[in-house]
Amino acid sequence: MKKRILVSGGAGYIGSHVTVELIAAGYDVVVADNMSNCDRSCFDGVRQITGRSELPFVEMDFCDAAAVERLFSRYKIDAVIHFAAFKAVGESVAEPIKYYRNNLLSFLNVLEAARNHGGCNVLFSSSATVYGEADKLPVTEQSPRLPATSPYGNTKQICEDMLRDAIAADPSIRGIALRYFNPIGAHPSVLIGELPRGVPNNLVPFITQTAIGKRACLSIFGNDYPTPDGTCLRDYIDIVDLAQAHVCAVTRMVEGRMKEGYEIFNVGTGRPVSVAELVTEFEKVNGLKLNYKFADRRPGDVVAIWADTSRANEELGWKAKRTLAETLASAWAWEKHLAEQ
Ligand code: UDP
Repeated sequence: MKKRILVSGGAGYIGSHVTVELIAAGYDVVVADNMSNCDRSCFDGVRQITGRSELPFVEMDFCDAAAVERLFSRYKIDAVIHFAAFKAVGESVAEPIKYYRNNLLSFLNVLEAARNHGGCNVLFSSSATVYGEADKLPVTEQSPRLPATSPYGNTKQICEDMLRDAIAADPSIRGIALRYFNPIGAHPSVLIGELPRGVPNNLVPFITQTAIGKRACLSIFGNDYPTPDGTCLRDYIDIVDLAQAHVCAVTRMVEGRMKEGYEIFNVGTGRPVSVAELVTEFEKVNGLKLNYKFADRRPGDVVAIWADTSRANEELGWKAKRTLAETLASAWAWEKHLAEQ
């Protein structure tokens, strides 16, 4: 019997890539999304890549407890991967209540349904933001979580704690939190990728939109940081590599190979790259010149963060494979594909 995975927020940037990899690995998938921050075209892209025109899709809001309950009654779910959440740091500062309501309530409903249906494997989509400005780099999963600097970051910490506590109280629930570093790039088919609404907050979509002429100029936020070239250091992870980490984590859960009821893994490359380096690499790989300028630091940015990936490498048997060059080429191919639409 094939195992069935529920992907909440499965029409979004990460969820769509994860769905593709789950299907490639032989899982049955049910995608559910309220379509609040994605485009129907991404789900169509998933169907096209996988050749599964009948791939189940449920349009629903995970804040609706009765709807989540109905979903768990309708399908026998072996594991749920929870992506359904808001993710814009700045917006979360301006609208904290909206963020707490959506991100906490949706996950609470998932945990409640898991408990009501005799337990479940739960994979939570967390973030390296929980480490804040770490004292020691690279960060391991044991590195302290620092007080969150935004409501968005706080929701990630609270959801991790909700999962940990639910598991401690009920052994029929097991869970993994994956802490993502900076996911970038697009599927090589260019049928799915990131679709930021409005002006992108993230670096790579801003770069590709500048290169295509949608934005006049990229601002590099800060060049006086205590780093080799003065710009911030991050760990940019290819979206397909990141998606494959989910397959490894889900498989570990459904095959009963977890060593503890609740486990945490960093999902990054282990390689720090500065903003200036990323821009230069993008120009080189794609043979173009980017219009950019140095600007003030962006409030709330940490100076540097990258992952110690040993635990994911050893325990999940997963390692990021794609080079930064390949990933930046895929990001540019995706932007050009969008321009042709
Ligand atoms: N960044 C930048 N210009 C932009 C967007 C981002 O210089 O238009 C920098 C940002 O200051 C940070 C890095 O790029 O150092 C990654 O930012 P992003 O928002 O993509 O991810 P974060 O690490 O903040 O989650």
